[in-house]
Amino acid sequence: MTKSSDFEPGETFARELDRQDPLRDFRKEFYRPAGRIYLDGNSLGLLSNSARGSVLKVLGEWEKLGIGGWLQGEWPWFTFSEKTGGLMAPLMGAKPDEVVCTGATTVNIHSLVSTFYRPNGRRKKILADPLNFPTDLYALRDQLRLKGGDPGEDLIFSPSADGLLLEEEEIARAMDDTVALVFLPSVLYRSGQLLDMAYLAREARKRDIPIGFDCSHSAGVLRHHLDEWEVDFALWCSYKHLNGGPGSPAFLYVNRRHFNRSPAITGWFGYRKERQFDLLPDFDHQRNAGGWQISTPGMLSMAAVRGALEVIRRAGIDEIRKKSLRLTGYLIYLIRLLLSPPPYSFQIVTPPEAERRGGHVALLREEGLRICSALKHRGIIPDYRPENLIRLAPVALYNSYHEVWRTVQALREIVDRREYLEHSTKRQPVS
Ligand SMILES: *Cc1c(COP(=O)(O)O)cnc(C)c1O
Repeated sequence: MTKSSDFEPGETFARELDRQDPLRDFRKEFYRPAGRIYLDGNSLGLLSNSARGSVLKVLGEWEKLGIGGWLQGEWPWFTFSEKTGGLMAPLMGAKPDEVVCTGATTVNIHSLVSTFYRPNGRRKKILADPLNFPTDLYALRDQLRLKGGDPGEDLIFSPSADGLLLEEEEIARAMDDTVALVFLPSVLYRSGQLLDMAYLAREARKRDIPIGFDCSHSAGVLRHHLDEWEVDFALWCSYKHLNGGPGSPAFLYVNRRHFNRSPAITGWFGYRKERQFDLLPDFDHQRNAGGWQISTPGMLSMAAVRGALEVIRRAGIDEIRKKSLRLTGYLIYLIRLLLSPPPYSFQIVTPPEAERRGGHVALLREEGLRICSALKHRGIIPDYRPENLIRLAPVALYNSYHEVWRTVQALREIVDRREYLEHSTKRQPVS
């Protein structure tokens, strides 16, 4: 954990942190909304030159090659999903053939949970967490229903005392002999708590329960060790900290020991590559993560993911994590110092320990919604989650320490001048 004493409150110190930042030049590679401080990379990461170039390249291939792009593209489109998975794999501690870029987060939950959830007699429950992103819970309930279960009874949760954080030991205690599958997020999307995936996977293995993670909020923020942890499967989106673009295709990971398992939901893009175009009536899946693909990939949006990953790899995920922790550590330090006492009364809900934080900091404050509106009005883009939760994500690749400093000053002034009172209490359809 970064000690508070490492930081100083003044503006010059923020400037100094920026001067010493080894990643500072990456900021120039991103399109940042003019005149704004963008702190919403945990919802939609920004466009980089590299991602843009990669889209234009595939667009050009389509222009020049038509259908020929499937085999003659610089990266042939036919195997682009696998190759993009291979770019991603080292960041997740996986082998290249264990990761593929495909589908969408929720679709991949359906596909992998239906593969790995095998109820058998008493062992028929799915252990999840009550704070997970709702779409994950919708999909889990569907999967229970499809296999004859009762979501009301068979979807079980490890309790959260405050509705914001979870205790790993409690989760492990809930892994009893009625549990057929554990499915959890890596980082809780509201509080920003990073769960101890190594510990949870170990506890699940001890009891022979398959475990999967939704890494949507940690992919691109920190190095994972999915193989070493012996996680069974994982999935994550590519448009948050991976900067793949709005609605860009997701990723999935299947541990090698499961390559011979039949995917539960199949489609011709999961067919053995060398025979896919024989168009045989019986399905035979690729013996790697690619076997869990379903449909023809959306090439233009996947191209952006490739370019976005190239930037992340060039910067190095360990450097990214280091800076991300320093940015969030600095933000936490300033908030504690300047925004905790009344009348500011901002409560930090993200755990202070570095090993328990993801890439964003969550604040709880009465009038959170209107405070977010006031921030936006000043050109600072946070996001809001009910009730009264303000999420701020200073992103290692394109945010500066000075932006963090300015954001804290802005929050102080918004309260001092009661600026939030000028804003509506009604939410926009996307916040
Ligand atoms: C962002 C996110 C999703 C998004 O699901 P889509 O299918 O990509 O719309 C799902 N789950 C979690 C945990 C997320 O953070």
